[in-house]
Amino acid sequence: MSKRDYYEVLGVSNSATKDEIKKAYRRLSKKFHPDINKEPGADEKFKEAKEAYEVLSDDQKRAQYDQFGHVDPNQGFGGGADFGGGFGGFEDIFNSFFGGGGGRRRDPNAPRQGADLQYTMTLKFEEAVFGKDADIEIPREETCDTCDGTGAKPGTKVETCTHCHGSGQISVEQNTPFGRIVNRRVCHYCNGTGKEIKEKCTTCSGTGKVTRRNKIHVKIPAGVDDGQQLRVAGKGEAGINGGPSGDLYIVFHIRPHEFFERDGDDIYCEMPITFVQASLGDEVEVPTLHGKVKLKVPSGTQTGTKFRLKGKGVPNVRGYGTGDQHVIVKIITPTKLSEKQKQLLREYAEISGQTPLGEHEESFFSKVKRAFKGD
Ligand SMILES: [Zn+2]
Ligand SMILES: [Zn+2]
Repeated sequence: MSKRDYYEVLGVSNSATKDEIKKAYRRLSKKFHPDINKEPGADEKFKEAKEAYEVLSDDQKRAQYDQFGHVDPNQGFGGGADFGGGFGGFEDIFNSFFGGGGGRRRDPNAPRQGADLQYTMTLKFEEAVFGKDADIEIPREETCDTCDGTGAKPGTKVETCTHCHGSGQISVEQNTPFGRIVNRRVCHYCNGTGKEIKEKCTTCSGTGKVTRRNKIHVKIPAGVDDGQQLRVAGKGEAGINGGPSGDLYIVFHIRPHEFFERDGDDIYCEMPITFVQASLGDEVEVPTLHGKVKLKVPSGTQTGTKFRLKGKGVPNVRGYGTGDQHVIVKIITPTKLSEKQKQLLREYAEISGQTPLGEHEESFFSKVKRAFKGD
């Protein structure tokens, strides 16, 4: 299944302003919202618009999308998982359109999407680099099988709430200095469901829902980074009144490595060498995530010199190649010298004259001298 371009979904140009994007989404969500539109396919159109809006309304996600496009659907998360998304965003939008203020009545029996769930998964450094398969258990609310979510004992009837006559709301009249105000409130006899259960289902105590531990197999792609999240579609909480399930978001936390540091797809490490190796040059073995690699250190290498090992970094999570490893040379000054070693160094200093560390340092000292003279 190939995904449509998010801009195309919302019917805006890719230079559209935030306002234009919001307006386009508002229009589409009113047209296709499952509370309003019962036509087949409307639900998919609504979800598509919602997803496009979630990405394009967020500056960071929009920039990422502009740069990388959709995540490769062949990543294999069963059910079209992808990166990005967010928490609460949908509910906020929903409320601003259909809930607060406008006085628009929400049908208590309309299908609604279940809540999204968040799960934090801690990975070892190498697991994040190479990816892995994992089985996780997520407790989530599901529809009660005994009563099919009605909350009523099998064989008994669900009746219409006599207090609100099934609307889930009751009108409350209030006398205020400004006159008589009629407020609509959620019916507390039925908690806004519009239904009255005479005999409760014993499995779910009349809630229509049960909490179950849900086993989920997750394929973590190679290259995930700390703080990134993976959306597993439809693995959130069960929908209400037969609505679709919410999504599960897995947020990755990655443990640091004792030797490697990661910056995006690149790896950094420090490589200690002796001053003799640095002076004369040598071939050293450098550990990488992909095994040991031989690195030629040329003679006269200074501390802090960076070497790049191409392709020895982290595979890009979206499949765009592999990063590099950067090796930063650190020259170690010996601390425990034998008498013979000391003697040799003294001889070395004598041969080198006033400048025991070579020409490089001489120019440094002459610069210092000039600085004190003031020219
Ligand atoms: Zn039940
Ligand atoms: Zn009621």
